[in-house]
Amino acid sequence: MISNFAHVKAGSVAEAIKALGARGAKLHAGGTDLLGCMRDGVFAVQRVVSISGLKELKGISAKPGGGVKIGALTTIADIAADASLGAKYAVLTQAAAEVASPQLREQGTIGGNLCQRPRCWYFRGDFHCARKGGDMCYAVEGENQYHAILGGERCYFVHPSDTAVALVALQAQLMIAGASGSRAVRIEDFFVGPAKDVLKENILAPDEIITEIHLPPIAGTVRSSYRKIRARRAWDFALTSVGIVLQFEKEAVSKARIVLGGVAPYPWRAAAAEKLLVGKKPDSAIAASAAQAATEGADPLRDNGYKVEMVKGAVEESILALA
Ligand SMILES: Cc1cc2nc3c(=O)[nH]c(=O)nc-3n(C[C@H](O)[C@H](O)[C@H](O)COP(=O)(O)OP(=O)(O)OC[C@H]3O[C@@H](n4cnc5c(N)ncnc54)[C@H](O)[C@@H]3O)c2cc1C
Repeated sequence: MISNFAHVKAGSVAEAIKALGARGAKLHAGGTDLLGCMRDGVFAVQRVVSISGLKELKGISAKPGGGVKIGALTTIADIAADASLGAKYAVLTQAAAEVASPQLREQGTIGGNLCQRPRCWYFRGDFHCARKGGDMCYAVEGENQYHAILGGERCYFVHPSDTAVALVALQAQLMIAGASGSRAVRIEDFFVGPAKDVLKENILAPDEIITEIHLPPIAGTVRSSYRKIRARRAWDFALTSVGIVLQFEKEAVSKARIVLGGVAPYPWRAAAAEKLLVGKKPDSAIAASAAQAATEGADPLRDNGYKVEMVKGAVEESILALA
């Protein structure tokens, strides 16, 4: 049951920021994650601040100096369906198309997708786990088949967002507005791992809002893709996903970004695999070595060792498909 809460329909970003300053206030975009958390009592909310009516935060447009600007309230469905975005930033439109179900893609926004809370069943359930201020991660000894194999210190949830993986691969930038003005943040610096702060998934202060996502210009021959592996073909979160952006000069890779989803508490850059590809023309031997390197540092829990092989397969296949 949802407890009583006040509702504020913000008429501007400034109004929303002011309203978020109150204790127990939470931002509402499409509400597909927030309302579920409220219903399940994952955290207490005294005031819902809705920005859903702010037209200035919706839409996809070309930036004057090159690159693309996406408003934080743009729906996942609009991103998935944008053909001109897909022509240059395929990794993002493909990731958007893999999010949840058609209904959720129509309602859910890109800003909300990046800020959605962990899907770990202990966090969402009736457990006072480390992420809720408790002193343990129940996944360590418990049901951990869907949990992290990388970067899971003190807490082993896996970041649920498909679009986050693609945006890290694309080196996107987030525009964040707060009481003291606006700031631009590299998306890689946005996510916070549990080793740094087990209570937060990102750097946002309670009264800060992502307003825009900026994609850098794409020049030369760049190919990208997003591959997601899930337990069933209906809506489901990733067991493993891979976002890859490769820049080619002649037939060799001149720049590589390989980012993994479903395996760590934040989008995980497979830096060793990226390094291995640069300067090479990808063939099956190179793809297999990069796939092996992508799992460097993996430390599975009791029931999720299968993800190591899954990552290797997904990385190898993705590289070969782009080559
Ligand atoms: C059944 C189900 C299946 C799903 N499957 C997938 C999946 O396969 N892949 C995937 O990636 N996601 C999946 N999701 C998550 C879904 O995509 C998100 O719920 C959705 O993208 C959130 O967008 P929203 O606008 O509804 O956010 P809201 O629910 O409104 O907000 C979510 C959170 O983000 C915060 N927030 C929202 N917008 C902003 C902003 N602009 N700035 C700062 N904070 C903000 C809110 O305060 C809240 O904490 C699934 C969700 C459900 C319910």
